[in-house]
Amino acid sequence: MTPDPPDQVDPPPAPAGPQPPSAPDAFTGTDRQMMALALDLARQAAAMGEVPVGCVVYHTHSGQVLGRGANRRQTDADPAAHAEVLAIRQAARALGDWRLNDCTLAVTLEPCPMCAGLIVNARVGRLIYAAADPKAGACGSLMRLTEDPRLNHRVRPLTGLMADQCAQVLREFFRARRAQPD
Ligand code: ZN
Repeated sequence: MTPDPPDQVDPPPAPAGPQPPSAPDAFTGTDRQMMALALDLARQAAAMGEVPVGCVVYHTHSGQVLGRGANRRQTDADPAAHAEVLAIRQAARALGDWRLNDCTLAVTLEPCPMCAGLIVNARVGRLIYAAADPKAGACGSLMRLTEDPRLNHRVRPLTGLMADQCAQVLREFFRARRAQPD
């Protein structure tokens, strides 16, 4: 008797550390448009004195925008008001479904542990982030939360799309803030 073939399993995630940029052909024209929209949202956040992070959730195949978010932590005095949280909640309301398997989330900065957890809970089908966050990133830098095989949903992030522009907006924001007198 031959043994049963092993179950199909995902390859194990690499150890935490900087995520290598994805190949350019990993991204569609829609992905590029959506990251540009996320960058616009990040700039709007900066104009309100918020750390500039922007996020768009869209239907992967049609490209229909379902949710947009820009960081509002200061404005709302809400530690959970990250761009990804706002965009995911808006998208789920628009769909009338908390499951976002058919959606892509594009965000200008690598998600933190809270947002990475929400991305798993919302079953987001595709995840794209631009700039890595070596201080708080949970999708490569400090951990690979969205790839943990013990969780019931996994999404391997695509990275590097418009990374320079998205990181530049953050650098400019922090430089201007440091230059301000206390
Ligand atoms: Zn976050």
